[in-house]
Amino acid sequence: MKVVFENLTKAYPSRDKKKGGEVIAVNNFSFEIPDGKLIGLLGPSGCGKSTTLHLLSGLQKPTNGRIYFGEDDVTDVPAENRGVGLVFQNYALYPHLTVMENIIFPLQNRKGKDKLKKEEMHEMARETAKLVQIEELLYRKPNELSGGQQQRVAIARALVKKPSILLLDEPLSNLDARLRLQTREEIKRIQEQTKVTTIFVTHDQEEAMSISDLIIVMKDGVVHQIGAPQEVYDNPNNLFVATFLGTPPINLFKGKIENNKVYIGDNAILNTNVEDVSEVTVAIRPEGFLPVENGSFSCNLQRVEVMGRDISVIAEHECCEKPSFRAIVRSENLISLNGNTVSFDVLPHKVFVFNPNTGDRII
Ligand code: ADP
Ligand code: MG
Repeated sequence: MKVVFENLTKAYPSRDKKKGGEVIAVNNFSFEIPDGKLIGLLGPSGCGKSTTLHLLSGLQKPTNGRIYFGEDDVTDVPAENRGVGLVFQNYALYPHLTVMENIIFPLQNRKGKDKLKKEEMHEMARETAKLVQIEELLYRKPNELSGGQQQRVAIARALVKKPSILLLDEPLSNLDARLRLQTREEIKRIQEQTKVTTIFVTHDQEEAMSISDLIIVMKDGVVHQIGAPQEVYDNPNNLFVATFLGTPPINLFKGKIENNKVYIGDNAILNTNVEDVSEVTVAIRPEGFLPVENGSFSCNLQRVEVMGRDISVIAEHECCEKPSFRAIVRSENLISLNGNTVSFDVLPHKVFVFNPNTGDRII
């Protein structure tokens, strides 16, 4: 099911009684989420991700704007009639019920012609349990399951109603690192198998990038960019998006544009046809440095970290916004790193230039 947001806004009264006013958790969203895809809704904590899901599910009413599922305006449709499955970070399973009973729970209050026989409900639960690979756990209680297994039960419970949209709110946050990796691949597989439009909320850019068909990057209630993960990484709209995506993070330097060149300090690192700007922020991805003799960007070498396939070169430059920056180079590209200095050429498609005050992209 395609989802359309039209000027969607949600304002809460501020929790700060002294200051008063309101918090705009979702600020004028207008965009479309395509049918059958896995969408990563990504942004720092407090940026309005959960509020967006609550508006979608019908748990909260927008202050302004409309929500459409397909061609239908669902803004005033109550949550239980929207056909949305929700999964939370903390699983929210009923501890006194078995896995089977937890999964069939949302099917039990159907009335009239939709009422299901017990055997039908069990069959649907078994089918869904199979999909999320917990069919051998159906008669256990939640406290007899690992975190990863509990989250699968929560996903099964959301899927058993055959929702047209599945919403996952930070579903991996309570899992340890290895399970998180495994479960995110599992979510990808389940989404591909069911083709249900899925919105996956996370503050972890790597998580969102790795499994999403499309990511929506937001901050302070505002959508900053929407696109395929690689597209957004390679072509960030602004400084926030550039710095939020990527591990290790993008490196920032104070610079200027003069006589058709981008400068960091005295080093002209890039040609451009943009006219002069006295102060810019130059952002270079860690993989955008090529160590060469007499390169255009010369720095003080701090240390080298060997990581197997790649090598991290940690260096200093007086214009760097941090005490040091990190270049990731392939081991075969490594020149001899004797002495205190290292010089690089930079790969033009890995360099972005921003207005330091507004964060807008210049190059
Ligand atoms: P996220 O899920 O991205 O961490 P939320 O959607 O939970 O963000 O919150 C967005 C903003 O709205 C935050 O500033 C938060 O404090 C505020 N907020 C969320 N729920 C309420 C509420 N019920 N009342 C007042 N403010 C709220
Ligand atoms: Mg949240």
